[in-house]
Amino acid sequence: MRAIILVSGTVQGVGFRPFVYRTAKKYGLKGFVRNRADAIVEIQVEGDKANIENFTLSLKNAHPPLAKLDSLHIEYVESGDEFSDFTILGSSVERTRSGSVIPPDIAICDDCLQELHLAGNRRRQYFFITCTNCGPRFTTITAVPYDRPNTTMRQFPMCTDCHLEYTNPLDRRFHAQTIACQVCGPKATLLDNHGEAIETEDAILLASKLLTEGKIFAIKGNGGFHLSAFATKDEPIQRLRRNKDRRRKPFAIMARDLTSINEFAEINDHEQKILQSYVRPIVLLHKRNPFSLSNQISPELDTIGVMLPYSGLHCLIFDNRALSALVMTSANAPSQPIITNNKDAVDKLAGTVDYFLVHDRDIAQRADDSVLRSIDRTPVLIRRSRGYAPAPVLLPNPLRTRTLGFGAELNVTSCMILENHAFLTQHIGDTETIETSSFLDDAMQHLSRLIGFTPEVIACDLHPKFATTKIASALSERLGVPLRRIQHHHAHVGSLMAEHGVNEIVGIVCDGFGLGTDGTAWGGEILECYQEEFKRAAHLEQQPMIGGDLATRFPARMAAGILRKDPAIAEWLESHASQFPHGADEVQTILRQLENGEYIWTSSCGRVLDAVAAILNLSFERSYEGEPAMRLEATASGGRDLLELDEELDLPTIGTTKLVQSIYDSIPRHSPTDLAYSAQQYLAHALASAAIRIAEENGVKTIGFSGGVALNEHIAISIRKSISQAGFKFVSNKAVPPGDGGISLGQAYLASLN
Ligand SMILES: [Zn+2]
Ligand SMILES: [Zn+2]
Ligand SMILES: [Zn+2]
Repeated sequence: MRAIILVSGTVQGVGFRPFVYRTAKKYGLKGFVRNRADAIVEIQVEGDKANIENFTLSLKNAHPPLAKLDSLHIEYVESGDEFSDFTILGSSVERTRSGSVIPPDIAICDDCLQELHLAGNRRRQYFFITCTNCGPRFTTITAVPYDRPNTTMRQFPMCTDCHLEYTNPLDRRFHAQTIACQVCGPKATLLDNHGEAIETEDAILLASKLLTEGKIFAIKGNGGFHLSAFATKDEPIQRLRRNKDRRRKPFAIMARDLTSINEFAEINDHEQKILQSYVRPIVLLHKRNPFSLSNQISPELDTIGVMLPYSGLHCLIFDNRALSALVMTSANAPSQPIITNNKDAVDKLAGTVDYFLVHDRDIAQRADDSVLRSIDRTPVLIRRSRGYAPAPVLLPNPLRTRTLGFGAELNVTSCMILENHAFLTQHIGDTETIETSSFLDDAMQHLSRLIGFTPEVIACDLHPKFATTKIASALSERLGVPLRRIQHHHAHVGSLMAEHGVNEIVGIVCDGFGLGTDGTAWGGEILECYQEEFKRAAHLEQQPMIGGDLATRFPARMAAGILRKDPAIAEWLESHASQFPHGADEVQTILRQLENGEYIWTSSCGRVLDAVAAILNLSFERSYEGEPAMRLEATASGGRDLLELDEELDLPTIGTTKLVQSIYDSIPRHSPTDLAYSAQQYLAHALASAAIRIAEENGVKTIGFSGGVALNEHIAISIRKSISQAGFKFVSNKAVPPGDGGISLGQAYLASLN
């Protein structure tokens, strides 16, 4: 009897064929296994029916840990007796199915880590050590099927020893496409800041030594370059900030191990598990007090983004015991994607770094590190990229239409929905430059080729000026498929609906900005959503943004707008004149703009948090996205609720003037910590109460919370508690970021319901 078995899911690049081989041998079956160009694995086996059945059972139940089987299709046919053995065949070009995909990058496994330090092992101290269970995948693959010629390893022909392992079914590198060693594989080189190679026996050892001396490095990783500096010294980090013109934006760090993390940050078992997972993301942790690393890493914040080493290269750097933690931040010019090639790195970073630690393997796809934080023991994604992309998000409800969503403007990803699989690209960034827009186009095309996807509908934001809107309309015209424009906050709720399979929900969405259906700036919304329809049921009070976008950059403008009726506001502005770039003149301009009504209106929650941060003297200029609100959150830590505001809801408007005014009036009597806490608590409480009332009145059973403000630990926990206590089902984003990195999923989902 012969069985033809087609396995789809994430089955290439995860040691699946070697596993099939061993299993077939175990049951005495003959035949073959091969990868196909549609990323599925095809198996043909001949033998006893009972053995074939046991074989397929093992495929389902005992497969390698990184393999994900979506479906296993079996067809029995007459035996042809043409096989004399079981073999792994070369890949076929056949493509009949779509939706299977290659895996994301996988952090170095324990076996490789052991070999890296094992005396006598031929890969001892070899930085590009990998096996069938670990190493780069997504960032090295140029096409499917996943075979060496379709990766950037094609430029490194295997030596005899590697080839022996590659062809030995009992070896753990049997058919490992990234197999390499000191003899045949990529080499690491140290360059000076002009790009000239520095002669040394061991580039990595010397680099780690120079790092301890305070030198700044650009280090080429698997998915792009990092900028790196010793994390306990102020000087190199200050210099890095000056060179990069990055004043306060926090840097992520890489720490040697959990013990070193414990010295400077608080870490619970849940966070520990995320840090050690094969994704190895950056996890936002609370700093310990006193803080043993440089205060220049995340100035004025109570959190720090930390990850563990995830490649052989990182592990070798940390073999230098003098290094406990390093700054490891994506190397990119402002508003540009992460740098991936050596020449570009030298051209663009020569003035920023002292040295380059590079290798000669090309990067096929960029991937920034993923970032998340654990809120109430639930992982919340801030950036979904390396280690996640291109693995699909599984949707509870399969969709009939193949839809492509393009995201908004900040933290863009694009998303392709194919039945119950939502494939998101890696993090693209802010698409305001040509470079990021072309990266978006490239990443989207690459992913659609990998999964065999062509859209039937395309979705984008309502904002006509976003680069993503322009790319989406051009593509819809070229392909002749309809374009659906989805309102920004509706798309945020859409991401919750897609993830949780609910089509009737009241969604609280709080962020910085999104264009509303009435043409004004929204950002503190409660939307009632039924299938693809929505209604703006309530929103935060509209407040003036004096000077438009300037009010986003200088939060005191926001504060002045909200407190415009307070006669003391002119005096307050004047006493803070030094905080404005043009001093007292600017204060006069602001007062005139206020009087002449030169402002636009916004219901943004982010802007209210900004205004409170300014009033509490925490932040007067936003040097990176979210800074004032993050400073407020850091200050609120450990505070108590003091405000006794009467919480009479007067929907559809949720008042915020009252809040900001009472914070302002309470400054002489209370600490900034308690006031910051109270402001967050008031917003959380008011939003939750409004959503509960709306849900009750309309008989809706589910309430969700999304948008960038959902990353605020206090607000997120408080909203969830109020809603659960009121007996509603509460949903939040788990598989995609609640910020704009998850919006492409919501757009695609809503457009496909249409
Ligand atoms: Zn490994
Ligand atoms: Zn070799
Ligand atoms: Zn948003």
